[in-house]
Amino acid sequence: METSFARSLANIEVAISAATAERRRLAERFLAGLGYLRPPKVLSTESLSVSVQTFSQAVVRFQEFYGLQRTGELDEFTLAKMAEPRCGCRDIPPPSAAPLRCAWEKRALAYDFDTPSQDISPSQDAFAAVRAAFDTWEALGKVSFIKGSSPNVDIIIKWTNALENDFSLVGTAIAHSDFPGSCFQVTPLLPKPLHFDDSESRWGIGDPSAYDVESVALHEIGHILGLEHSQNPNSVMYPSFREGNIKNQLLQQDIQGFLRLYP
Ligand SMILES: [Zn+2]
Ligand SMILES: [Zn+2]
Repeated sequence: METSFARSLANIEVAISAATAERRRLAERFLAGLGYLRPPKVLSTESLSVSVQTFSQAVVRFQEFYGLQRTGELDEFTLAKMAEPRCGCRDIPPPSAAPLRCAWEKRALAYDFDTPSQDISPSQDAFAAVRAAFDTWEALGKVSFIKGSSPNVDIIIKWTNALENDFSLVGTAIAHSDFPGSCFQVTPLLPKPLHFDDSESRWGIGDPSAYDVESVALHEIGHILGLEHSQNPNSVMYPSFREGNIKNQLLQQDIQGFLRLYP
C-alpha cells in the first residue's frame, strides 16, 4: 500500500512539474511575442530555453507595465493579466542603435476593405465603424485616410481566421496591425494589415456582449500611425480589450503621442 501510495504521489509530482513546465513554456512564448524576451532565444518549443533569471526579469517587466506587484513569478494576478483578451502587437519595442522615427513620410494613406466580419450584418456596418475610427484620427488635422483599391493601398482591413498567415491570433489576441517604416513588427511591405480575429472573438457595434469594432479599430490604427502601447488603462492605446467596452475617444495623452509623430 505504502509503495503504491508513494508511487501515486510521485506521479502527481511529475504531473505537476510537467504542468508547471508547460505553463512556463507558454508564458515564455507569450512574453517573447510582446517584446519582453528577445525572439532568437526562444525558438525551441521543447525545452525551457531561457535561464530562470532571464525569464524572471521578463516577468518583472511585464508586471511593471501592467502595474502589478513585481514578484518575477507567474502568480495568479500575473496569469490573470496574461489571460485577458488583448491586441496582439508588442508592448516593448525592440532595442535599436539609432532612434527610430515611427511615422509615415506621406500624410495621405489609402486603405481598402477585404473580408468582412461574419458577426455583423450588413457587413457595411462594420466597415463604417472602421471608417469612424479613421475619422477620429483624421480629425486631428495631420493625416488623411482615403478609400482605395487593393492591392495598391497602404492598409488592408479584414476579418480573418485566428490561424492566419502573417501573425497568429490564436489565444488571447483578438486583433493586430503593424507599425510604419522601420518600426514594423509584422512586415516591412505594404499594405499594412489591420486584422480582426473572426474565429475566436465576437464582433459588434455598441453590443455589450461583443468587441466593439470602432474601439478596437481606433487602437489598431494608432499602431499603423506609429503609436506604441500605453500603460494608462484609459488610453485608446492600452493593450487589453473587454467585450462591450466602448473606447472611441482619444485621451489627451493619445493626441500628444500622435502630435509628436506628426507635428
Ligand atoms: Zn495594440
Ligand atoms: Zn494578420
